Amino acid sequence: MINRAELGRSTRELLEHLLDLVLPVRCVGCGAPELAWCDRCRVTPRSIAASAVPAVRAAARYEGSVRAALLAYKERGRRVLASPLGGYLAWAVADLERSAGLEPRAIVLLPVPSRPGAARARGGDHVLRLARAVAKQRGVPVMDCLRLVGSVQDSAGLSTAERRANLSGRMVALPPPSRGLVAVIVDDIVTTGATVCEAERALRSAGWAVAGAAVVAATPRRTVAPRS
Ligand SMILES: [Zn+2]
Repeated sequence: MINRAELGRSTRELLEHLLDLVLPVRCVGCGAPELAWCDRCRVTPRSIAASAVPAVRAAARYEGSVRAALLAYKERGRRVLASPLGGYLAWAVADLERSAGLEPRAIVLLPVPSRPGAARARGGDHVLRLARAVAKQRGVPVMDCLRLVGSVQDSAGLSTAERRANLSGRMVALPPPSRGLVAVIVDDIVTTGATVCEAERALRSAGWAVAGAAVVAATPRRTVAPRS
């Protein structure tokens, strides 16, 4: 049964995808025509160690054209950006491999799950799609084996402690299909690290060895003022 609100949303999504195809393509950074993200606006990937436990590597800071590209991809359905953003994620995966001394053939990419409602509203799981872009570019396998259980609210605006409480015990993982595989958690953005910490906990309790996480971009740490 599909209700009126869902019908309205899927019609809007369909229109957005059609517009994505027919509207002239403009760069998310400078607005220049023809490319969704022009070479001049792309920043060179660089190693950002966003967290030590678990080890989290990002390829860029969440600012400027990287932020604009992630928002356009995630919130406005610009799927064409999955490939260049996947390039940044692939770079972060390689950086984690180097820093952790991993054997590339042993690793498996495990995307963090989206809330089902968010994935529906966005027309699919955007992190899974990024992981698949990395798989295509680097030949690393992807397993979609992390799930959210119970209710998880949108983490925007929550403090680090609130994010941890919101996610604590809310992920479950399928066990590794064979011995010797090492999990690399992948996500689009790391802010407080609460999501990757919960993913790591769920994977370890399902029997996985976890090397750390690779993400496209890291947000600068903010200090959250205590609530009065
Ligand atoms: Zn540009």
